[in-house]
Parts: sequence; structure tokens; C-alpha cells
Amino acid sequence: MITGKNYIGNRLSGIGQKTYRTFNPLLNIENSHEFVEASIEEINEAVFLASDAYIEYNQKSGSEKAAFLHAIADAILALDDDLIRTYCSESGLPEGRAKGERGRTIGQLRAFADLLDEGSWVDATIETAIPDRTPAPKPDLRKMLVPLGPVVVFGASNFPLAFSTAGGDTAAALAAGCPVIVKSHPMHAGTGELVASAIIKAAESTGMPNGVFSNLNSSGIEVGTQLVQHPQVKAVGFTGSIKGGRALFDLASQREVPIPVFAEMGSINPVVLLPEALQNRAETLAKTYAGSITVGSGQFCTKPGLLVGIKSDALTNFVNSLSQEIIKMEPSCMLHPNIIGAYEKNKQSAIGHEGLVVAADYGDEVVGVNYARQAVVTVDGKTFLGDTKLHQEIFGPLSMVVQCEDASELEQIISNLEGQLTGTIISESNEISEYPRVIAALQNRVGRIIFNGVPTGVEVCAAMQHGGPYPASTDSRFTAVGVQSIKRWVRPFSYQNWPDELLPNELKHDNPLGINRLVNGTIMK
Ligand code: NAP
Repeated sequence: MITGKNYIGNRLSGIGQKTYRTFNPLLNIENSHEFVEASIEEINEAVFLASDAYIEYNQKSGSEKAAFLHAIADAILALDDDLIRTYCSESGLPEGRAKGERGRTIGQLRAFADLLDEGSWVDATIETAIPDRTPAPKPDLRKMLVPLGPVVVFGASNFPLAFSTAGGDTAAALAAGCPVIVKSHPMHAGTGELVASAIIKAAESTGMPNGVFSNLNSSGIEVGTQLVQHPQVKAVGFTGSIKGGRALFDLASQREVPIPVFAEMGSINPVVLLPEALQNRAETLAKTYAGSITVGSGQFCTKPGLLVGIKSDALTNFVNSLSQEIIKMEPSCMLHPNIIGAYEKNKQSAIGHEGLVVAADYGDEVVGVNYARQAVVTVDGKTFLGDTKLHQEIFGPLSMVVQCEDASELEQIISNLEGQLTGTIISESNEISEYPRVIAALQNRVGRIIFNGVPTGVEVCAAMQHGGPYPASTDSRFTAVGVQSIKRWVRPFSYQNWPDELLPNELKHDNPLGINRLVNGTIMK
């Protein structure tokens, strides 16, 4: 049941003055539930509870935390149709997507549970003492990863489940041993409260300390700002706009004690179209890319927003085919009037830019006011290079094709891009070797490089890198997807000459957990 209140640890509370409602973009009306924004007292209480809970939560074993994560997954599944209905009414996304995203959320929680059950993720590294070493004895040193402390997670507008309340950031932080305070996304506060109720239920049933999780409502920047500035918060996870992520990053750096902000932000995900591939399969590629640009109404951080090729008849054919294909796609509803408002504004500003040509712009009637009209625009390489405004993400179903004079201009364009989550090469197998400088430039700009595919569709697995050079993310050394994302919420910690019985099990001489450890340079159990 949705109450509109905040979860301050295990307790529902709604003492604040400011209220708001979520919006159904399909029906273009407000939803009925009213949400109460968290007050400063509630924010403080949530953080103090989290700080207290950190001590006790930290002492839980990996398998106890794994049981907690499995219980969250089970409790989310038990929300059943209530959750799916609320998700759809707050996002305009179809039921299939809601169920798919729920599956991904459950899968992430269980993957972290498996990681904890296995246990080797803590990177236990042991160097045993050499007391008679000369000129100085070598001490016994044992290092492992330990949790940072309470962390704040900002829910993402475009993933109400998989990157929000119990999404990847929360699952990774809880797995690491960090209590989590979620700053719920105002567009899907009801979905957030339902999922929060599942987390609280799981925490109670598995004996986790009160405060291991809190969920705070907010419809403006105040709650997030206060959380990031709170001295007892130790790190922040964020998915959203560059403007929002950068503001939080700056705020965190200006604290008396700065903290890391792991923000996953905008990306235009360049796709390099090599000539022979275009010559041989322009139409097939156009169909594939029309799908990738419009899937989820273009509201994915991996949407291919930039396609780059060398001027030729084949590139012209590709642009014509892409234009025809994209017009055939059925427009779909965007997440919120604010999101489609930003899309329309950015689209019109791009279309009005001198030198940009509209190749396709869906012109037929759409079934509702919040349905986005997809578009393709083209521009020459020189114009693109001359204005970095053209390099910015347009969140929604629009893509830009840059027509370069030659391979050297293509390389220059890639080199001049900001950091990106992904880069894609469309190539025949024999031609890629002719473009080593383009490939090197692309590798230097992105976190993940794709051969003959599309960037949308992010596999959740250990080898995934979802994060790239700034501004794709604030720290390109980490991924926001897959179990390796746990590394954002920990720090290395060494014990020197510490008595064996006082060491954590991960570092004890007999290796009671049977985990993989690096002992004197050799990996062993
Ligand atoms: P957003 O504006 O970046 O906001 C995300 C969250 O951060 C919200 O909860 C917001 O709070 C909070 N926030 C933003 N600026 C803040 C600040 N200065 N201080 C404290 N908190 C702040 O993203 P959004 O609302 O999800 O969507 C808006 C735009 O972001 C989209 O049109 C799109 O361009 C972009 N976006 C990009 C991606 C991507 O993956 N690349 C994903 C989602 C969105 P309030 O909402 O409560 O103000």
C-alpha cells in the first residue's frame, strides 16, 4: 500500500510541509497519491540511523547479507501486480518493460548475493612476516576491501526499478556493507515507496539493523543537497543529467571532508560507420539503428545519438534508409511532461542550428501529448567540429549523422568528443585494420567498444563496463553495472601484525571461508 510517507529506517514518517504527486504521462493526468517531502529532521534521523546501523551491519557475515539481498528480491516479486501497475502509471512505460526491468532488478540483487556467498570479492591479500629479514624484519600484512559507511543513492528517472530504490547502486552498496539512504526520484515516488517497503520487510525478516535502509521523498533539489552535505554520508551514487551529477559532485568536493560521487551521466555513444560495411548493408543497418534510436523513446543513456561516416553514395543511401525506417516506427510515450519538454526544446534548438539538415521528423498525429516525435538530422564534419553544443546529449529519439570529408576528419571528430559510455564500429572484417587511428581515438574516449552491434541493451554481468571518461561518469575507473560495481563502495584496509583471532574471517591464517586469496604473490584458497 502506498502511504506517501518516507521510510526513516523501519518507520513510516511524513511530518514535512511540502507535498507533491506523480504524473501519468499516458493519461496526461496527476496520479492520486500525495507524497510528503522529507523534512530536515527526517533527513538527519535517517542519516544517524544509517551511521548506527553501519557498525552492526558491518559485522554481519557475507552469507547473512546475501540472505538479506535474496529476501529483498523475494519481497519485490511478492508486490506483484501492484508494483507493475504503479510503475506503468508513473512512467508511461509498457507492462513488458516493467516486468523486464523487475527481472533485471531481481537478477542484480541475486548476483550480488552469489558474490557474497562465494566471498572472494574482498580481494584478500596476505604477505606473511619474515622476522629474520635483513636489514629490517618484514611485518605480517593482510589487506581486504571494507565498506565506506552510509551512502546516498539518487533514483534515476529512466529506470524506476533497475537504477532506483533497489537498483544496481543500492544492491551494490548493501552488498559492500554500506547502509543506504535513497533519495527517491519524484517522477516515480509510488514505485519507490513500494520497493522501499519490500526492502524494509526483508531487513526485518533477516535481522538487519534498523537504519540499514531509508527512503526519502523529495520533489526539488533540497533533500538531495542536504544529504550530500551531511557529514556522516560517505559516498553518493547518481544516474541522470550532467547538470545534476556535476552539481552534486561539486557539492561533495566542497565539503569539509570531501566524499566520492559516482555519477553516471550523459552520453551520445558515437557509432563509426566504415565505408565497405555501408556499401554492403546500408538498409539492414538502417533498420537496426532505427530500432536502437527509438527503443524506450530514446530514454537510455546508451542511445546512439551520433552516427559518423565518410561522405559517399553509400552514406547517403544509409541516411535515406534510416530516415524511411525511423518514420515507420510507432512513436512512444516519454516518462514525464518535463522530459518531453526538454526533448522538444533541445530538438528544436538542434534543428534551428545553421548547417543542420532535417533528414526525418515524424510528422503524423501521435496518440497522446507526451508521445515523442522521432527525428534524424545530418551535419557536415566541419560544422560539427566548430560547435561543441552539437556534441551534447539530446535525451529522446533523435540521432545526428555527421558526414565527414575523409578518414582524417573522422578521426578528428572522435578525438574531439567528450567522454562516452560506449563507442561502436560498424565494419566489414577486412576494413577495420585500415583505421587504426580511428579505433585508437574511439578507445580513448569510451568505456565500452562494440563491434558490429548497437550500444543499447546493457548486459548485466561481471565483464560489463558501464562508465566512461568524464562526463559519461565522474570516475571512469568504475562500472555502474554488474557485480564489479561493488568496488565503488569500499576502500582497501590493511592489518599489520594483528592477532589471528581478532582478524576478520577473510584474512585468518586458516582461511575458514575458503575464499581465493593472494598469499605471498600466489592465488590460493
Ligand atoms: P536530473 O535532472 O539529473 O535529476 C536526477 C535526480 O537528481 C533528481 O532526483 C533530482 O532531484 C536530483 N538533482 C538534480 N540536480 C540536482 C542538484 N543540483 N542538487 C541536488 N539534487 C539534484 O535527471 P532527471 O530528472 O532524471 O531527468 C532530467 C534530464 O536528465 C533528462 O531530460 C535527461 O536529459 C537527463 N537524464 C539522462 C540520463 C542518462 O542516463 N544519460 C538518465 C536520466 C536522465 P529533483 O528531481 O527532486 O529535483
